[in-house]
Amino acid sequence: IVKMKGMNKYFGNLHVLKDIDLTVSQGEVVVIIGASGSGKSTLIRCVNGLEEFESGHLEVDGHPLAPKSGNPKALAEIRKEVGMVFQQFNLFPHLTVKKNIMLAPKKVKDAPETVANATAERLLNRVGIGDQADKYPSHLSGGQQQRVAIARALAMEPRLMLFDEPTSALDPEMIGEVLDVMRELAKEGMTMMVVTHEMGFAREVADRVIYIHEGQIVEQGKPDDVFDNPQNERTQAFLSRVL
Ligand code: ATP
Ligand code: MG
Repeated sequence: IVKMKGMNKYFGNLHVLKDIDLTVSQGEVVVIIGASGSGKSTLIRCVNGLEEFESGHLEVDGHPLAPKSGNPKALAEIRKEVGMVFQQFNLFPHLTVKKNIMLAPKKVKDAPETVANATAERLLNRVGIGDQADKYPSHLSGGQQQRVAIARALAMEPRLMLFDEPTSALDPEMIGEVLDVMRELAKEGMTMMVVTHEMGFAREVADRVIYIHEGQIVEQGKPDDVFDNPQNERTQAFLSRVL
């Protein structure tokens, strides 16, 4: 569902992604790990066109994204099909939880009010906060807000979900409830690309772990192989710091 070939990305003179080749299959859960500044966020932001890239090839669910975002039509399609959850929840503070979830289906998909409402209620139950529907985001805990953000992304019925450190801004006691929701999603077959420092989650849920160093994929494989027997010395050094 995602194909990257020889992708390069610069911020000015800074070469942030270097010749990235990466294919993600339908239903696969790929966890991306690496040091701060290695390019993890930039990589997944390219997948839904939040960042442009300078050269190479990127295709998402059959829609080709040209370098320098030369393809607005494909970009619009991709944004409809790809859900994203950030470290900061980015909920609309002036809308209730339920209205936050109903907004995109109504605007982008022309969903009737009743349908959007039913979808929102179903998704809120699914992420375990059906009773919070009419509250405003600021009245929820961080873990609850992040679960709203996940429900909001799911309301667009995405084919692919991107997560960029979804638990990094949370108090420790709330991390588990968000990881549980993600674990469920993975079990149900959602295709996911996840940047996280939660190595336990990566080991348990990932089909594949990718280690990025200075904008390059230097190692990837099954979680047990990467964590227990890393081949690249950069990966070894990184894991010895974080495990
Ligand atoms: P972290 O773990 O801290 O989130 P990361 O692996 O997600 O790091 P990126 O955010 O992808 O790293 O950043 C990769 C490099 O690109 C870093 O050197 C960063 O400073 C730089 N960078 C990121 N965004 C921009 C930007 N908008 N303009 C200029 N440089 C940027
Ligand atoms: Mg990042």
